[in-house]
Amino acid sequence: MSTSSFDSMVLVDPARHSFVASAQGSEFPLQNLPYGVFMPADGPARVGVAIGAQVLDLAAAAERGWIRSVPRSVLACASLNALARLGRAAWSALRTELVALLAQGSALAGHADAAVLLHDASAVRMALPFDIPGYTDFYASEHHAFNCGVLFRGPENALPPNWKHMPIGYNGRASSVVVSGTPLHRPNGQLPGADGVPSWGPTRALDFELEIGAFIGADTALGHSVAVDEAWSMVFGLVLLNDWSARDVQRWEYVPLGPFQGKAFGTSISPWVVPLDALEPFKVALDPQQPAVLPYLQEREHVSYDVALQVDLQTAEGEQACISTSNLRHLYWSFAQQVAHHTGSGCNLRVGDLLGTGTISGPEPTQLGCLLEMTKAGQQPLQVGAQQRRYLEDGDRVTFRGTASSAQFTIGFGSLTGQILPAR
Ligand code: MN
Repeated sequence: MSTSSFDSMVLVDPARHSFVASAQGSEFPLQNLPYGVFMPADGPARVGVAIGAQVLDLAAAAERGWIRSVPRSVLACASLNALARLGRAAWSALRTELVALLAQGSALAGHADAAVLLHDASAVRMALPFDIPGYTDFYASEHHAFNCGVLFRGPENALPPNWKHMPIGYNGRASSVVVSGTPLHRPNGQLPGADGVPSWGPTRALDFELEIGAFIGADTALGHSVAVDEAWSMVFGLVLLNDWSARDVQRWEYVPLGPFQGKAFGTSISPWVVPLDALEPFKVALDPQQPAVLPYLQEREHVSYDVALQVDLQTAEGEQACISTSNLRHLYWSFAQQVAHHTGSGCNLRVGDLLGTGTISGPEPTQLGCLLEMTKAGQQPLQVGAQQRRYLEDGDRVTFRGTASSAQFTIGFGSLTGQILPAR
């Protein structure tokens, strides 16, 4: 396997450290450098980079001449869209500059400006990283698709006949994507009744879905299909994604046009966008696909990343437990195949579009990515300390984490957390 899917990759020597002391051993060492949008206590939102327990203010760094590869105007923005739109060569140039700027021995290390440019992460508020024109959610994990299929259709017909031929997806709702920490009210909806007559009320089957989201970093033209081997170069970076789901609403509405209100009430993402360059050392080959996929989905490299995922549930009563450990490697369809399929019809993608993997479940019972699977659609309650859960209760808080580790360093996504408030 080649070491890079595209030419301009910026890999950071594993032995190299940042002068920011808290970076060593943290999820945000010099080898990560994820981008986000933050609000300092005393100013408007702007672009930042996480380094250890600090956030580097890129707008201020450009203002003072520490960053020269991209214009200050794209960094003094309340979203990453303008930066992403500059293209992959600019992303690489900026990452190269940031590595030099934050490494031990850099001119900034002993300079008075360091105190101005670096904020304590605990003292800033994070915003949504992108203005999101569109959100599409896929169904790319075979274990998840199989487990759900068994629950709804039995083991013989678990995977729909199209499943191994294309990455199935649906057009989700971009307007309700929120950043980590934003609470969500339990949604109201049409609930199926035993007699075939629905009722209206708060969902009784509120679930989370453990996913990773990819942010698209380039516009495509309407009518243009992206070649699968070129699709990776359009991905700006990845975030944790929780596709909250009301299973009773979903079950009643999804035939024949797919999910709608059961998903549309909210989707949460983590604030830091991890660049693919940072994930490159953790690239893993996926199993060959059988049956062979159609030519437009055939890749030179069929890959994902070895990112350990974890779900923690804190109940309203204060019990806390890790209820799942999965991994981004448990995908059948790669991000590149998702992009190629999405644009295959000529549908255009735009900078800031968000593509969710779908729930990522592994082969083991401890690796399931949603309560629907863990509780077998609510039939087998999950024990969380002294409490039981079939689905989420008001006051419950769900937290995702994602980390990739080598012998020398770990990079991570930070955390994605959201609490359920009572229905309105
Ligand atoms: Mn989903």
